[in-house]
Amino acid sequence: MTSKKSRVILSIKRSYCLDCGWTASTELHSRRELSTLAIEHAVEHDHDIDSEIICNLSSIRPTIEHPDEAMLN
Ligand SMILES: [Zn+2]
Repeated sequence: MTSKKSRVILSIKRSYCLDCGWTASTELHSRRELSTLAIEHAVEHDHDIDSEIICNLSSIRPTIEHPDEAMLN
């Protein structure tokens, strides 16, 4: 019985492509969405996706572009 209140997430996960500039993070997506987006990108473009955990929110720029997002819909 873990009480899940609206906990502040202090770290985000960012996935990024090693072959192009694609990136997505849990800032804008849920973790499930993020992994789905990463897999879709890897499959569609045959690219390698890596990911990292970022703990310091202040170091993250708010403007993250998602050029491929429209294509995935
Ligand atoms: Zn890519």
